[in-house]
Amino acid sequence: MNTFKAFVLENSKPVQTNIQEWTVDQLPEGEVLIQVAYSSVNYKDGLVGHTGNLAEFTPLVPGIDLAGTVVESSDPRYSKGDEVIATSYRIGTGHHGGFSEMARIPADWVVEKPEGLTLREAMILGTAGFTAALSVMQLEKNGLAPEQGPVLVVGASGGVGSLAVNMLSNRGYQVTAGTGKDHEHEYLKKLGATEIIHRDELVDKENKSIRKSKWAGAVDPVGGKTTQYILSSLSYGASVATSGLAGGLEVETDVRPFIGRGINWLGIDSVQCPMPLRKQVWQRLASDLKPTSLEDELVAEIGLQQLDQTFSDILEGKVKGRVLVKL
Ligand code: NDP
Repeated sequence: MNTFKAFVLENSKPVQTNIQEWTVDQLPEGEVLIQVAYSSVNYKDGLVGHTGNLAEFTPLVPGIDLAGTVVESSDPRYSKGDEVIATSYRIGTGHHGGFSEMARIPADWVVEKPEGLTLREAMILGTAGFTAALSVMQLEKNGLAPEQGPVLVVGASGGVGSLAVNMLSNRGYQVTAGTGKDHEHEYLKKLGATEIIHRDELVDKENKSIRKSKWAGAVDPVGGKTTQYILSSLSYGASVATSGLAGGLEVETDVRPFIGRGINWLGIDSVQCPMPLRKQVWQRLASDLKPTSLEDELVAEIGLQQLDQTFSDILEGKVKGRVLVKL
């Protein structure tokens, strides 16, 4: 491939994007040259592509996720023809990313695609699926088990939320989904939610640090006053895995739920997740944590031309499930 198509954030203030023909010489340093088969759109891509925030330089090819086939590698861990995944680190923010038919990535950021996932499935999961799986793993590591009671997933119709609902339901948990989308109740039930609550009821409006114990655990990609509500309503010894800020940054609480109920507030980070754990998460995503609903309603497939619209949709909380980008 002499030239290839790349979606480029040409300018960040004001944001200006276009699709360009690039050559391999324009790609950054890195040991592994990859022909990208699929990427996906995450909330962070919306921030980079629609607000220009988080872009460390321009012109930049955004796209924090990619999966494809190795074309050449100067690192002995990878050879031509290997199917690989690359997500996180500075991909799509400080290193040209996945919204491009070709990418060159440092070998230390590359993960061999596990058996049990196709390249397409790997990107239906992408960073959102990785984050959902890491959340479930950390909750269970801290003692969560199905017999303990309902687990709350907020932002349930989004990427992290949808996949967490399905993973937890498949593992035998009773899942309560918190969503702002009244028209997505059927979708959430299909993924495995047994109860659905409007997101407005899952917000701590009165800054009460303690309320009735309700949840055996929670997956929280929303943040802000929703996190406040969760912290105040976790059962004794329960944990919440907080990964996101779709609903806000600031959280006001006090020590009472921690010292009175022994709750755990777990931070979930996909970006700097150490490689040994990262590989474990992908192995679990390809095996016991692999969602059963990877196609149908969970996925919308787009091309580079539809990225601009998708960025604004994801920032407005309008996206359902996952948006897969076919290169
Ligand atoms: P999505 O946009 O797909 O999902 C977010 C969901 O949150 C929305 O679909 C919506 O669900 C809900 N939501 C949106 N706005 C609000 C609001 N104002 N108040 C309450 N709920 C809201 O994004 P992703 O799933 O890709 O990412 C979710 C969050 O997790 C983002 O903040 C992202 O940056 C973060 N993240 C963090 C990672 C990490 O490493 N820590 C990795 C991946 C993601 P509904 O309508 O159903 O309520």
